[in-house]
Amino acid sequence: MSTNKVIKEVEVYCREHGIRFTDQRRMALEIIASSKKPLGAYDVLAEMGKEVENPKPTTVYRALDFLLEHAFIHKIESLNAFVVCHAGHSHEGSQFMVCDDCGKVEEVHLCHLPKDLKKKIDDTGFQLTRWNTEIHGTCNRCQP
Ligand SMILES: [Zn+2]
Ligand SMILES: [Zn+2]
Repeated sequence: MSTNKVIKEVEVYCREHGIRFTDQRRMALEIIASSKKPLGAYDVLAEMGKEVENPKPTTVYRALDFLLEHAFIHKIESLNAFVVCHAGHSHEGSQFMVCDDCGKVEEVHLCHLPKDLKKKIDDTGFQLTRWNTEIHGTCNRCQP
């Protein structure tokens, strides 16, 4: 999905849900969506610094929190970095294939996986707040 399309979709979503899509939020999303690799918070801060003068880390963190909360982006825990959502943020639980060679992350969805897991977990009385599966390996392109 192109960066423009991602931004457009989020714009529409925010308008329909009465959410404010501020300049900082847009900028952070644009930066992450146009990157080919997952970006850490400080990468986002550095990129933002090219557009506005001395952006504050707290501004970036707040924008990232917002984007995460609405699942416009996902956090890859093992890399401590963020990727844009390519699945229309209507899903619960995601699976990510992380290439250890080139660093590319691909989002996949097997919707029955989170559902099955939730059922199992509900039986134990445990309360599930979030779920991410990260699968490490080598992507097609990086294989010899
Ligand atoms: Zn997603
Ligand atoms: Zn690769």
